[in-house]
Amino acid sequence: MSTTPASSGPDVPFGPEDTPWQKTFSGLRVVDGVPAVTPPSGDPRDTYMDIPEVPFAKVQIPPAGLNGQQYAEAEGLFRRYVDAQTRNFAGYQVTSDLDFQRLSHYLDRHLNNVGDPYESSSYTLNSKLLERAVLDYFASLWNAKWPHDGNDPETYWGYVLTMGSSEGNLYGLWNARDHLSGKLLLREREHTGHDPASVVYTQALRREGQSPHAYEPVAFFSQDTHYSLTKAVRVLGINTFHHIGSTRYPDENPLGPGTPWPTEVPSRDGAIDVGRLAPLVRFFASKGYPILVSLNYGSTFKGAYDDVPTVARTVREICTEYGLDRRRVYHDRGTDSDFDERSGFWIHIDAALGAGYAPYLHMARDAGMVDEAPPVFDFRLPEVHSLTMSGHKWMGTPWACGIYMTRTGLQMTPPKSSEYIGATDTTFAGSRNGFSSLLLWDYLSRHSYDDLVRLAAECHQLAGYAHDRLLALQDKLGVDLWVARSPQALTVRFRRPGAEIVRKYSLSCETVHEDGERRTYVHLYAVPHLRRELVDELVRDMRQPGAFPDAGTGPGWAGAVDSLAAPSRTEAVARH
Ligand SMILES: *Cc1c(COP(=O)(O)O)cnc(C)c1O
Repeated sequence: MSTTPASSGPDVPFGPEDTPWQKTFSGLRVVDGVPAVTPPSGDPRDTYMDIPEVPFAKVQIPPAGLNGQQYAEAEGLFRRYVDAQTRNFAGYQVTSDLDFQRLSHYLDRHLNNVGDPYESSSYTLNSKLLERAVLDYFASLWNAKWPHDGNDPETYWGYVLTMGSSEGNLYGLWNARDHLSGKLLLREREHTGHDPASVVYTQALRREGQSPHAYEPVAFFSQDTHYSLTKAVRVLGINTFHHIGSTRYPDENPLGPGTPWPTEVPSRDGAIDVGRLAPLVRFFASKGYPILVSLNYGSTFKGAYDDVPTVARTVREICTEYGLDRRRVYHDRGTDSDFDERSGFWIHIDAALGAGYAPYLHMARDAGMVDEAPPVFDFRLPEVHSLTMSGHKWMGTPWACGIYMTRTGLQMTPPKSSEYIGATDTTFAGSRNGFSSLLLWDYLSRHSYDDLVRLAAECHQLAGYAHDRLLALQDKLGVDLWVARSPQALTVRFRRPGAEIVRKYSLSCETVHEDGERRTYVHLYAVPHLRRELVDELVRDMRQPGAFPDAGTGPGWAGAVDSLAAPSRTEAVARH
């Protein structure tokens, strides 16, 4: 028998009182004194990354649970940590001062919006009524035809996501893939009389004279695209232009014959470079591949807006040249009349952040409150096929949620009908979070367009203020902090400061190769909870000597020491 060291196995100190793990059981009688559970094989406290403010021992869950006092201490430590980080949260595009206490009643209610939002189901404990109101609100804001009508292909269809825009991107690309690879659409199911249970998910028939690639979509997105897109194409088995280009046409990169294919479409200052996207799209369209383009509207790191109207027009014009604007898709039975007509391209808009405020910024511009606003991105553009937004980002919710929206006529057929839930299974998840629809409904009900227009204009101005302050700091210190703001972005990026500051403000990092050097940037996001006071505090922290350990010393540091003599920490950061 091997001896177990005290730091592993049943003797591992466990829980708030450092009790040996095997002594942490309650008085429950256990057969032979050995409960049928697995003891730790090592000390978790040595294994996990710790938060200094909350020792892991305090929150470990012994088999007997925590007593009242232990619970209060653990929860108190965790609460102080969360509240401190909430106060200084500046590095992500997530609004963090929330106001939903009035909905606490529903924490003790189960709300599950399983299945299609427009079909009531036998699962009556849902908030689909509110979900439909929320979807109509956004359909109007994003200029889609509404209300949703299953018999009108021009009206919108959508649903409230259980994840954020990652799910919206996944679902949008899934819908795009099925559309472009010729699978039967939902609207065709009734017309053609196909038996939904057997043939709805089969592939289209390739006709004589059609390209061998006619049903093989190829995906395009820029180098500033969120990682969820890369995940989505992988999960869905969609090929990117890089993959097909470098495997089938290795020497034919249209951006430079003989040079390697770029992995993503190059961008300029965060926005997709339309001048480079066009030849890439043309290369594949000319060979008959259907075209799938995903655009960013408020890119993750730089907050940049792809020029959606220009890309939409460019892609449509190229596709028209090669017969991909409208094409016939023939189905299994092979009779000449058994086809539908649809586009051979799909444009998806990843507007995780931008769709939440840009419409109000457009209104602010039209009212003369701000000088400029980002380009149009919504269903006014006939080429826009699908759109997603995260609910927790601009608006702010206590957990991830979001909206997916498309046009009813583009809906794909769900793989399987689902009698069990009593509603068509047209969404990605099974059970869907019904509380999120309630949160979105609550927020929109309590904020008028006027409120939201003012808020968007304030954040836009605050981003400009932060940009000015950081440029001034850079001047003063005489050190290149790489301060930059993409046009009209809500974020300003700059050189990563030391670890203390990064942690205090939750600053996210991105390392890029720029101007021939490796640079690690962080950014500051002007979302509704950010205040000028917090920007000022960050700037003050960054004036301290040593704030940028890898930036060397500049002429400004000496003066910076003086300014620390009388720190004026602003405590009143809360808005209300
Ligand atoms: C945050 C973000 C996503 C992912 O959204 P989640 O809500 O985190 O799933 C997708 N795209 C962009 C541009 C984002 O900024």
